[in-house]
Amino acid sequence: MYIVLLGPPGAGKGTQAQRLAEATGLVHISTGDMFREHVRKGTELGQLAKSYMDRGELVPDEVTIAMLVERLGQPDAAKGAIFDGFPRNVAQAKALDDALAKRGAAIDHALLIEVSDDELVARLGGRWMCRQCGAVYHERNDPPKTPGVCDRCGGELYQRDDDKPDVVRARLEKQKPPADLIEYYRARGILRTIDGEQPLDAVTKALLEAIGSWQSA
Ligand code: ADP
Ligand code: AMP
Repeated sequence: MYIVLLGPPGAGKGTQAQRLAEATGLVHISTGDMFREHVRKGTELGQLAKSYMDRGELVPDEVTIAMLVERLGQPDAAKGAIFDGFPRNVAQAKALDDALAKRGAAIDHALLIEVSDDELVARLGGRWMCRQCGAVYHERNDPPKTPGVCDRCGGELYQRDDDKPDVVRARLEKQKPPADLIEYYRARGILRTIDGEQPLDAVTKALLEAIGSWQSA
């Protein structure tokens, strides 16, 4: 089963993708996490990506698609995946369809998580992430047991550079899912819209119900 999670920055895609991955056994593929890993390692791709990420802009399609297609070719993605942060536009959606079609597969569910702008600003301003495993926390909504320490792996928590107020503003202007991308999946009858302002567990339940996995979870 292949699932795409759509939604503005801060909607809860990463948090929920991790929960869905645990519940379904599918691999979680986040292009944002992949770019951050490249930045951390100081690769050429990381340097290029950082110049866009720092401005709250999307990394060009060509490099993003190439990175995603390469990831999709790895064995753990052969039976399915949860895509978080990809696709961000129709060109990326088409590239993903082409790559899946070559493997005789297709996207089964597109889940759009909706959250108001005021709530997104509050979420991004209080987000903390683990440097080691990428787990996501919020200082008020979903705090770690010990401040600054990841519950899952003991890694160090940090606040993303692009969660600073001026970059958040740019991301919310430039990175909401475009209408034609939403329409792309709606036209195929696989789009479901989820109220992302519910508590974390309620959002997880709604997502699992939408993919028909609530019973087995
Ligand atoms: P995205 O991957 O869509 O950018 P995240 O999963 O990183 O979003 O979530 C953004 C922030 O909001 C995190 O700090 C997370 O802990 C918090 N958060 C996510 N979902 C909820 C929710 N349903 N209620 C309250 N806070 C949430
Ligand atoms: P995210 O972790 O999804 O918030 O992504 C962090 C940053 O990585 C974004 O602000 C973009 O600069 C970049 N990025 C992540 N995914 C994509 C994508 N699919 N296309 C282009 N840029 C992306």
